[in-house]
Amino acid sequence: TKAMVPIESLDSLSTKSFPLCMRQLHEYLRSAHHLKHGGRLQYGLFLKGIGVTLEDSLRFWREEFTKIMDGDKFDKQYAYNIRYNYGKEGSKRNYSPYSCMKVISTAVGAGDCHGCPYRHCDTTVLKNRLQGYGFDNQATYDIVEMAKKGHYQIACSKYFDSVHNIELGLGINHPNQYFEESQKIIK
Ligand code: SF4
Repeated sequence: TKAMVPIESLDSLSTKSFPLCMRQLHEYLRSAHHLKHGGRLQYGLFLKGIGVTLEDSLRFWREEFTKIMDGDKFDKQYAYNIRYNYGKEGSKRNYSPYSCMKVISTAVGAGDCHGCPYRHCDTTVLKNRLQGYGFDNQATYDIVEMAKKGHYQIACSKYFDSVHNIELGLGINHPNQYFEESQKIIK
């Protein structure tokens, strides 16, 4: 059985062990206290996959969303979908976290911040974000060039290496695999 991940550790994990697709959702949620449907699904299922319990998930989303809405609205409009992700509502299917293929091929509209940043972010936005995180020029250049060429998962692998200060060149095919590989190195 998988270890539980307490929601109190998500801020720190998002910088150390989340791939960029999930880090940007986490940061957006923390700053805007909201995510659109596509983002809630992508991030919610990822969190389930890393070992956040249903109870913790409800608490986590509720704490953010109720900064901009009342608890009643959250309970009526959003709590259902979180339980749904955990197979507790509707067809009670046990929904799987999205693979890279699914995230990369997802439709992303204006104002959305889900999807794969190497595929869906404007190059300048991506570059500025990496530099804002403290990536050096070479690492930033390498990642952005791979993204430009359409090698999204290689860009992700280079991001992994930069964050962990290592040269692994892992094949990344799932955001939750990224997380687990990172935890192996950190622990
Ligand atoms: Fe996320 Fe996969 Fe894109 Fe990496 S390659 S950012 S894990 S979707």
